[in-house]
Amino acid sequence: MIKAYPKTQTKMKKIITFLALASFFAACTTNAVTGRKQLALFGEATLQQQALTEYQSFLSQNKVVSGGSNKDAEMVKRVGLRISKAITEYYTQKGLANELNGYKWEFNLVDSKEVNAWCMPGGKVVVYTGLLGITQNEAALAVVMGHEITHAVAHHGNERMSQGAVAQGLEIVGNIATANNPKYNALFTNVFAPTAQITVLLPNSRNQEYEADHFGLNFAAMAGYNPNEAIPFWQRMAAAAASSQKPPEFLSTHPADENRIARLRELMPEALSYYKPVGK
Ligand SMILES: [Zn+2]
Repeated sequence: MIKAYPKTQTKMKKIITFLALASFFAACTTNAVTGRKQLALFGEATLQQQALTEYQSFLSQNKVVSGGSNKDAEMVKRVGLRISKAITEYYTQKGLANELNGYKWEFNLVDSKEVNAWCMPGGKVVVYTGLLGITQNEAALAVVMGHEITHAVAHHGNERMSQGAVAQGLEIVGNIATANNPKYNALFTNVFAPTAQITVLLPNSRNQEYEADHFGLNFAAMAGYNPNEAIPFWQRMAAAAASSQKPPEFLSTHPADENRIARLRELMPEALSYYKPVGK
């Protein structure tokens, strides 16, 4: 009799675990572009809406370098437009145009020593002036922007937030985590807020980094930028980290190690197959 309780509890636990796993797998979607199964508990439209609010507030609180008279700001917009056009064409050809529903691309250069760049759901991109000292040329900037934009279009933020939601036991109705919940806002901030401290950021997973490198290179090449520039860029990034007491922000989630560079070399033939230099 006494032992009946633990047994019942064990059975209940098993049922609960089964239900949790069943809903977990139901919420797993196959990424149309990468082919990898990923957890997506959040509606893309909800994320885009919140991203827009965060983006506008970030731009209002930081010094945006306006295009037109500034060559660097113009370059950021030009690279962004070319990559977004290449991605739209690629998705359309594959019959995946609806993956980009709600995307309203924006590319802003922000005056900051920080070595960083990011793209939020919906195509909201920021490049920091500090990054340009390391990219040094337009093709290398295209490699970084291609990488960051891939994180957004491959719904990596949704996946990281969903993993965080499961870890925190966030209430999930159907397959969608409830949005009007303070925990949801905290998750969003942890994954996306550019002002968040590095220590609270959920780290990019190795899968996500690999995908962002892989498709980012391809997209930069499709946009007419030489993907080979990725190698010297990452070497410069590693050198910057080695020579500075405070390593670039970007490196906290993007280690510029030998593994990354070796992987990029492996990916290069595929990227080069997409490469058509602009104007040729
Ligand atoms: Zn990344």
